[in-house]
Amino acid sequence: MNSTSERIFFRGWRPVLAATALILGGCSSQTGDNPGDWAKYGRTDSEERFSPLDEINETNVSKLGVAWYHEFDTDRGQEATPIVVDGVLYTSTAWSKVYAFNAADGKLLWSFDPKVPPQTLFKACCGPVNRGVAVSKGRVFIGALDGRLIALDTKTGKQVWSVQTTDPEQPYTITGAPHVVKGRVLIGNGGAEYAVRGYITAYDEATGKKAWRFYTVPNPDEKADGEPSDKPLSTMARKTWFGDAWKEAKGGGGTVWDSMAYDPEANLLYIGTGNGGPFGLKLRSDGKGDNLFLSSIVAVRPDTGEYVWHYQTTPGDSWDYTATQQMILTDMKIGGKDRKVIMQAPKNGFFYVLDRITGELLSAKAYVPMNWATGVDMKTGRPIEVADARYINEPRLQVPGTLGGHSWHPMAYNPNTGLVYIPAQTIATFLANDPNYKYLKGHNNVGLDPKTSAFPDDPAQIEQIKEHTFGELIAWDPATGTRKWVVKHPYFLNGGVLATNGNLVFQGTGEGKIYAYDARDGKMLWSYSTGNGIIAPPVSYSVDGRQYIAIMVGYGGFGAMLGTIVPNRPKLPGRLLVFSLGGKAAVPPFDIPDVEQIDLGSASSSGNPAKGGAAYGEHCFVCHGLNANSRFVKDLRRSMIIQSPDAFRSVVIEGAFSEQGMVGFAKWMTPETAEDIRAYLLQEARKAEQRAKTPAGK
Ligand code: CA
Repeated sequence: MNSTSERIFFRGWRPVLAATALILGGCSSQTGDNPGDWAKYGRTDSEERFSPLDEINETNVSKLGVAWYHEFDTDRGQEATPIVVDGVLYTSTAWSKVYAFNAADGKLLWSFDPKVPPQTLFKACCGPVNRGVAVSKGRVFIGALDGRLIALDTKTGKQVWSVQTTDPEQPYTITGAPHVVKGRVLIGNGGAEYAVRGYITAYDEATGKKAWRFYTVPNPDEKADGEPSDKPLSTMARKTWFGDAWKEAKGGGGTVWDSMAYDPEANLLYIGTGNGGPFGLKLRSDGKGDNLFLSSIVAVRPDTGEYVWHYQTTPGDSWDYTATQQMILTDMKIGGKDRKVIMQAPKNGFFYVLDRITGELLSAKAYVPMNWATGVDMKTGRPIEVADARYINEPRLQVPGTLGGHSWHPMAYNPNTGLVYIPAQTIATFLANDPNYKYLKGHNNVGLDPKTSAFPDDPAQIEQIKEHTFGELIAWDPATGTRKWVVKHPYFLNGGVLATNGNLVFQGTGEGKIYAYDARDGKMLWSYSTGNGIIAPPVSYSVDGRQYIAIMVGYGGFGAMLGTIVPNRPKLPGRLLVFSLGGKAAVPPFDIPDVEQIDLGSASSSGNPAKGGAAYGEHCFVCHGLNANSRFVKDLRRSMIIQSPDAFRSVVIEGAFSEQGMVGFAKWMTPETAEDIRAYLLQEARKAEQRAKTPAGK
C-alpha cells in the first residue's frame, strides 16, 4: 500500500508536486505511483480512486473549463475509466473500441476497432459497454464484448496478440477492464443473467498464454477443471448447491464482471463475484444452500490462482445482489486497532469492512435504505433476512432492487478525510419467481415473472415511483459506518466518483452535469452541463505540471433501459471531456435528432396484446426497455415494422436486422408469439400517442 506514504508525502509539499511528477515521469508507470498518472483502473492497485494532485482545489475549482474534448462514433453507454501514462490518455468506448490521445492537447494518436460482431449484443445484458483498458510495459489490453482479450502496441495501436477467453457458443460477454498484476493480465466476464458459469483467467502479458483460471461456482458436469479452483469448489462450494437447474444451465452465475484489487505486500488478489442465475434460489438450487462462491469477495494468490479466503456477502443470492462492486484497500483504525482493510459497498446495501489478510468481518452497516435484512450477524457474518425476503409466498417490492444500492459505478476514498464517497442509488424492484420458468439455452434466464416487472400505466403512480427512485452521493465514514454528508440527485443512475488531494470530490450525473464538491462537507463548488447523461467515473492526471480532470460522457448501461424513470433525452454520441483551470475550448452543442414519428393509421394485429406483453417481458425488455420504453435502442413504439405482420416477423423471427445486432428469435419464439408481441407494441404505441395529445397536468 502506498496510501499512507502518499498522504504524508503530499501534506505540505504541494509546491513541489509538478517537479516530482516530472522526475518520476518515465520510470514509475508500472507501479501506478507517479502522482501525475492515472496508470491503473482505480489509479493504484488499492483502487482508491484518489488523485494526489491538488493544483485544482477548493479555492480555484470555479475556474475549471474545457481544455479539449473528443466526440466518438457511438451513442451507446460510455463507462470507461481513462488510463493516463506518460502523457498519453487511453480510453475505450462502447463496442470495445480503443483510443489513444495526447493527454495535454487531445490530439488523436491512434484508434483500434476490434470489430465485435453486432449479434454479440444479444448476449449483453446491459448494452455494448466497456469500462476501460489496462496499460503495462508498452501494451494496451482490452477485453472485447465478444470475449476476446486483445493486446495492442501503446505506440501504434496495432494488435500484438489476441486470445478468446470464453466459449463463443455460450452467452458470455466482457465489459470489465483487465487488470495487470505480476506480469499477468486478469480478465473475467459477464453473463449471470443468462445463467453462465463465472470465472476469471490470468494470461501472460507478453504472450497471451493462459496461466490459470479460477471458477467461482462448481463444474455443472461434476468434473474437475484441472484449475486451482478445483480444491475450494470440491471441499467447500459443491455441498452448498442443490438440485439440477444450475447443471442444466451449465452455469449458475457468479461472474467476475468488474472489480479486482491487489495487495502486493500480502500477495493477494481480490476478486468480486456476481449474482446467481436464474435469480431466485428456489429456481436455481431447490431453494437451499449458500451457493458458494456467488456474491462473494474471494482472495487468491495472483501467481497461481490458489484460493486463500472468501467472504460471502449474500448467501444463496435471490436478488441479483452481486459483490462485483469496487473493493478499496487501505489501512485504518477500527475499534482502536490498526487494521489492513478491504472495503466494499455491494448491491445488497451493506457497506463491508473486512480484514484483508484474513477475511475477518469487521463492520457491516446499511449505507442505503433496505427492506430485505435488518442487519448482519457479526458472529456468523450472515445477513439477518426478514420473513419471505425470498418472495416464495408472494411477490415482493424489494429495496435495494436488482440494480442494487450501488453498482459498478466506482466509489472513491480520500485518505485525508477518511471518507468513502459512494455513488449510491435507491430503486426498488418488484420480484416474483416465474411459475413457468424453463431454462432457454443461450437466452436471458433470470427466471422472474415478467408480469410483475413492468411499470404501471397510471401517470400518478409513475410519479410516485419517480419520487422514491433517486441517486445519492454519500460521504461515508467506514470507521464508524455512518453518513457524514449526502447530496441527493434527481435520477437514480449517475456517474462514478473521483476524490482528489485538492479537497474535492467530482461526480457526473444522469441529468448530464458534472459537479465538484468540497470533500469535507459536500458543498457544491462547481458544475458544468454536458448536454448528455453520465455514468462513467472522472479521473485526474497532470502533464508538465498542469492538472486535468477527464470524464467519458454518454448514458446507457442496464439502468438506462428503464426509460420511464431516466431523463427523457434523445440518443447522443459519446464524448470525452477534459478540463483544466482556465480551459477555454469551445464545445459545440449536440445536434438533437428529431423524435421519430410514425403514423400508425389503421394498423392492427390478430395477436393477443396481454400475452404479447408477457412475452415482451420474457424476451425483449432487457434491450428495448420496460413498457417498451427504452431511450437507448430502437423505441419499438416508433418503429415502422410494427405496422406490418410480415415486416415484424422478418425481423423478430427471421433476423432481418441481424447486422444491426437484432438477432432472429426463431429458436426461442413462435411466429404466433411474435404477432402477440406486435399487438402489445401497437397497444403501447397508441397509448403513447394518446398521452402526447393529453395536455400537461391532466
Ligand atoms: Ca446481475
